[in-house]
Amino acid sequence: MTIIEEAFTRLYPDKDFRYDAKIKYSNHFKDYNANVKLYGNNLEFGLSRKWKSVSQEIRIGLLKELMLNLFGGKKITMNIDLYNKFIKNLHISINKSISDPILEASFERVNNIYFNGLIEQPNLIFGKSSRSSLASYEYSTDTINFSIILKKDLDVLDYVMYHELLHKKLKFKHKNGKSFHHTAEFKKSEKQFENQKEMEQRLKRLTSWRFC
Ligand SMILES: [Zn+2]
Repeated sequence: MTIIEEAFTRLYPDKDFRYDAKIKYSNHFKDYNANVKLYGNNLEFGLSRKWKSVSQEIRIGLLKELMLNLFGGKKITMNIDLYNKFIKNLHISINKSISDPILEASFERVNNIYFNGLIEQPNLIFGKSSRSSLASYEYSTDTINFSIILKKDLDVLDYVMYHELLHKKLKFKHKNGKSFHHTAEFKKSEKQFENQKEMEQRLKRLTSWRFC
């Protein structure tokens, strides 16, 4: 049974699957977008190539949502809420293989002190040094990318680690087509870091030192 049939059968156990169905993976989609078309007896799913490395269960979930949209007669694209839901849950299925000993040690410290060890370790990498972005969390690959400048001050690294792990924990709010990452809840949590004000100052010093 193909995963399309699997998804169909789970969704409509009383119906026969009578389509000529296939999945086409392509680079034309942005991030994790997908769509489905039905012409004649042909049921064709178009999925972003990124879906290829996602676990089968989550892909079946995607196919089910697309089928619900299609056979329910609604708009034949994956709606934004579903898209966000998938993105928020994708980190579960992503392969955690990329790490760095300095970042791993920082992660252990911060996770134990501030999250009771409950955050699952994301991919942790040092990327390019940058003034505008000291670090960023990418939901779709469950990866935090840190500027190498943070190696200069491991306390500040911990503070930035805390900020990025809060993104992983709190995710984002979606309203009127916009995503909100630094919500009031986020800012309140951020202030719970020990000596937060001092850390903010040291963070500024670090970046100005680098560029003066
Ligand atoms: Zn942030």
